[in-house]
Amino acid sequence: MRSDEVRDVIITHLHYDHAGTVTDFPKATFHLQDEEMSYATGRYMAHKHLQHAYDVDDVVGMVRLVYEGRVVFRQGSAELAPGLSVHHVGGHTAGLQSVRVFTKRGWVVLASDASHFYEHLETGRGFPNVFHLGEMLEGYNKLRALADSPRHIIPGHDPLVMARYPAVSGTLEGIAVRLDVMPSG
Ligand SMILES: [Zn+2]
Repeated sequence: MRSDEVRDVIITHLHYDHAGTVTDFPKATFHLQDEEMSYATGRYMAHKHLQHAYDVDDVVGMVRLVYEGRVVFRQGSAELAPGLSVHHVGGHTAGLQSVRVFTKRGWVVLASDASHFYEHLETGRGFPNVFHLGEMLEGYNKLRALADSPRHIIPGHDPLVMARYPAVSGTLEGIAVRLDVMPSG
């Protein structure tokens, strides 16, 4: 499937490395938490420390999509389709949401930056890029409750994900992996 054929895109949060390719999806509707839009356009963005992982053009672009009727706002937990739901976690950003998807191995949770690496979740430590440390730590419990086991949780930025799961195909080696099978490690 080409990106211009994609109909729905879940934006876990608006940091530039998670929202920078929105224009590649001209026909898509974007699913975003209310709180993430409020956070990315509100008082906290006046602080350099909190704004640095946002690109103002991505945020303004998302505002434009709101006016085009192409953003569906979610609040808390919401089912997008049978076996596919989003869940507000917060912590890393005020409105971060993780994604829960039913696969042939059961419920898998795409944590996004609710857990940067496996180690954060496993050791209960916070990642320094954080809005609310307490929510981040509580979020680890939320991820565990949503997933069938800790091995069903996929952290947002851990290179081990690419090592533990098989490539989708030969041409996608090093780019995309299958998460519907158990990890090797
Ligand atoms: Zn982030």
